[in-house]
Amino acid sequence: MAETNGGYDTGIPHDEMSVEELREEYAELHEQMMSGVLEANRHDRMMGAWNELRERTEVEQPECPECGARNWGFSDHTECRDCAFGPADTDLLNDIQSAWDSIMHAEVSA
Ligand SMILES: [Zn+2]
Repeated sequence: MAETNGGYDTGIPHDEMSVEELREEYAELHEQMMSGVLEANRHDRMMGAWNELRERTEVEQPECPECGARNWGFSDHTECRDCAFGPADTDLLNDIQSAWDSIMHAEVSA
């Protein structure tokens, strides 16, 4: 039996997982990242789950004022994944946060 890294790397391709499963996996891995215990080789798995969720939920994140990307990263602070811009504008940060909430909690029909 293969090591499962605490049971969260199921090895199942993300496109075969349900939104609920993706959210669970992402939440767990994100939690590990925030606690500084995420293994380096698990970061891609976390990002894969996140990208799949963004596609499935069809939530559009706010545009980066610097480069126009809609791809925000969340670690100890919020920053653009494309240009590393870190917004300080509260309205923008709130919009980014509510997009995140939708991706993680909104009803999804599929
Ligand atoms: Zn940017």
